[in-house]
Amino acid sequence: MLTVKNVTKKYDKVWANNNISLTVPDGEIAVLLGPNGAGKSTLIKCICGLLRFSGEISICGFDNKSLEAKRLLGYVPEMPAVYDLLTVEEHLEFIRRSYKIADDGTGEKLLRRFELYDKKDKLGKELSKGMQQKLSICCALVHKPEVIIFDEPMVGLDPYAIKQLKEIFTQIKNDGVTVLISTHMIDSVEDYWDTAYIMVKGEVKVQKKNGEGNESLEELFFSATETGSDK
Ligand code: ATP
Repeated sequence: MLTVKNVTKKYDKVWANNNISLTVPDGEIAVLLGPNGAGKSTLIKCICGLLRFSGEISICGFDNKSLEAKRLLGYVPEMPAVYDLLTVEEHLEFIRRSYKIADDGTGEKLLRRFELYDKKDKLGKELSKGMQQKLSICCALVHKPEVIIFDEPMVGLDPYAIKQLKEIFTQIKNDGVTVLISTHMIDSVEDYWDTAYIMVKGEVKVQKKNGEGNESLEELFFSATETGSDK
């Protein structure tokens, strides 16, 4: 479970997050939508412990800055950040060592699933943008986290990888994992979401459960943001 309570983050004069609260229970997929600059990535960076903020965030009941929380969290950042001089396989080994977990074959399965297994000896700097994104997803999943945050996970992925990722969303949800996805590609999550949070100017303007009302996610987005921008 992911709990965000009264989170506020200000950059100089910009209130990037203004008193945000949300809860994502086990086995649910929440989507975070909003125009450019609405504050989605800031909230995600606060959740992942990469920014200082005021308020409280907990991962499965543990404060997000604690070691316990970090063990339980997986994060796919907006921009893949791979190590230039580690091979694909070494990235997964690095994650396993950091989390002190044995190789149970999950890494190989993920690499095969994302068509990276034959690239396992390639260096990070030799990967295309899409391959880096796929590796970033594998790295976020290899330690089997209980809460996973995806920031624009589909960007740069080919159709086959998008299909694999969508199947993974369903699988991890069925395994009881908590998922938060921030995306502009509304179509890509239309079939999976349980709760939608639409952010505008640093605040959650609309929160809606799937099945409440007849509006599609896209219609909800446009009605919440009115003009489709955060002007
Ligand atoms: P996008 O959809 O374009 O990725 P977003 O919803 O993720 O946008 P954020 O990146 O969280 O939005 O930005 C929220 C606000 O905070 C914006 O006004 C942005 O200009 C500002 N902001 C973000 N990062 C910084 C920073 N490092 N320093 C100053 N202001 C920042």
